[in-house]
Amino acid sequence: MIKKFLYALWILILGFLIIFGLKNGNYKTFISSMENRSFDIRQSYISSVGLREHNSNIVIVAIDDASYEYILENYGEWPLDRSIYAKLTDYIEAQSPKSIAFDLMFVKSIKSSENSDNDLTNIFKKYNNVYTAMNLDNQEEDVRKPAELPESIAVNLDNKSKKVDTKYYEFTNCRSILDKILQNTSNIGMINVLRGDDGVLRQMPLFLNYNGRYYPQLALKVALDSLGLKDKKDFEINKKGELILGDKKIPVNNDGSVILNWYGSTGTYEHIPLYKLLKAMNGDKKYQFDFKDKIVYFGATVSSLSDIKTVPVDKVYPGVEVQTTYVNNILDNSIIKKASPELNITLTILLVILTVAIVLALDSMPVIIGLTITLYFVHSILSYYLMIHQNLWVEIVSPISFTIMAFIITVIIKYLIKSKDFDKQYKLATTDGLTELYNHRYFQEQMQMFCANAKRYENVFSLIILDIDFFKKFNDNFGHQSGDAVLRQVALTLKKNVRSSDIVCRYGGEEMSIILPNAKEEEAVNIAQKLCDIIAAQTFKLSNNRESKVTISLGVATYGATDGTEPAKIIESADKRLYNAKENGRNRVN
Ligand code: GH3
Ligand code: MG
Ligand code: MG
Repeated sequence: MIKKFLYALWILILGFLIIFGLKNGNYKTFISSMENRSFDIRQSYISSVGLREHNSNIVIVAIDDASYEYILENYGEWPLDRSIYAKLTDYIEAQSPKSIAFDLMFVKSIKSSENSDNDLTNIFKKYNNVYTAMNLDNQEEDVRKPAELPESIAVNLDNKSKKVDTKYYEFTNCRSILDKILQNTSNIGMINVLRGDDGVLRQMPLFLNYNGRYYPQLALKVALDSLGLKDKKDFEINKKGELILGDKKIPVNNDGSVILNWYGSTGTYEHIPLYKLLKAMNGDKKYQFDFKDKIVYFGATVSSLSDIKTVPVDKVYPGVEVQTTYVNNILDNSIIKKASPELNITLTILLVILTVAIVLALDSMPVIIGLTITLYFVHSILSYYLMIHQNLWVEIVSPISFTIMAFIITVIIKYLIKSKDFDKQYKLATTDGLTELYNHRYFQEQMQMFCANAKRYENVFSLIILDIDFFKKFNDNFGHQSGDAVLRQVALTLKKNVRSSDIVCRYGGEEMSIILPNAKEEEAVNIAQKLCDIIAAQTFKLSNNRESKVTISLGVATYGATDGTEPAKIIESADKRLYNAKENGRNRVN
């Protein structure tokens, strides 16, 4: 009964915690930030042991510290004149690269000259595989008029998924780049990034929404070029929430973003410092680079010049490497997919059931804890495995926090049940079944204890031993059943008429004993006399609705010089007095 109640309580508490967990915002935020951390740890581990190969055809022309100094020294100004970028592009194009992408925004600037801007614009006219960047924002119209973007760079998006919300990335303004470039190429992609609440960049938008039209990411455009899907205008997100790119299906997050899968810390992709490329272009034979079939990304890699991010695998990570990672992920089809709630819940339930089973089935706490930790370990290994081989992000934190709760609750309830069982066992071991008085063994233990305490604290206690008069005859007259009934009623009467601190025991047969703590002889004799009178006055109910009277004889002994200070002596003394009471006519105290 109690067990059933406790199990019901367990289910109630767990149910409550689940509902609390799902409803409570703080708890949810806490769990999700921990989950993000666990994702970062998995990603760091996978990339640090080199389990994921990056695409070596993607290289970065790095605008680094050394290049910055070199340009100031040799060209006299920063930023680099746009005609130089045009020349560099020509130089690389001579080696037939797959594509060239500028993770740089060529905006209107007081420094730029008409001629340089024209040189750069001509590059976009000349080569169909050169890409550049721009971004959308929510700047007030007072500051900047929203730009008109040409039709050519927008795409159509058919979102068939009910879960994916593509409105999420709606922007009201746009930081436009040079009009000339906008008019002369459609190879323009957005480079807006997304950061988590903790500032870490884990995901990137696929498309941004501006003036009711969709604009793709630069990385997506560059990747499409490599996939032979250049100038794809019509995109579809299917019912399952996947973006269809030829034979590839890219899993899209509910907020319309994709979760990147990292290959390693910064420098994973080959970094060619810009100054070395400039030297090579100017004929320095020391530097030679092979750009054939490469995807060449220009971008800042030095923190003073660029948008440095924190990503799951690195604290300092250049924006341009986020771009190359993104391109690489699409080419590999290795965008991370979050596991479905069904899979996460199934794994959680499995873990909870196994944890509860371990706690209930085993007795040794170290073994239980060891096995439970092993279970979590196996779950973590599984989560690594799924991330490496399936690019799947199964939750770790919420399943483990639920199982820890289940573990704690089960341990507590198991302990409660055990302590209840222990109470039951203890009662069985110390109680007499017929009278429910303490049994002989308990009486002897208590006598030992009382003698020891009396010695140590110099106090007294008394003992009454009593015996029912002519009980043999009573049994003969009324039968054993009635005898038992009288024994029970005498026991009850004794218990009712002494203090709760007094210890009433069945000494044996129809003999009973009462230990009276702190009672001196006179007091004990008075109590004994009172009990003798009460029993004599009581009418006992027998079987078959009969009634009868019985009397008792009582012997009293007190700890001390006269009756002794050892249990055996005191008992012997009380026994002698009881014998005298019998001798003197019964129904009396001696
Ligand atoms: P007295 O004590 O007055 O000298 O006479 P008595 O007849 O009570 O004598 P004695 O103490 O020798 O007998 C005890 C009897 O108590 C013997 C036994 O039949 C009865 N008795 C002992 N234990 C039980 C019990 O558990 N149930 C019942 N019904 N009778 C018991
Ligand atoms: Mg007897
Ligand atoms: Mg008797």
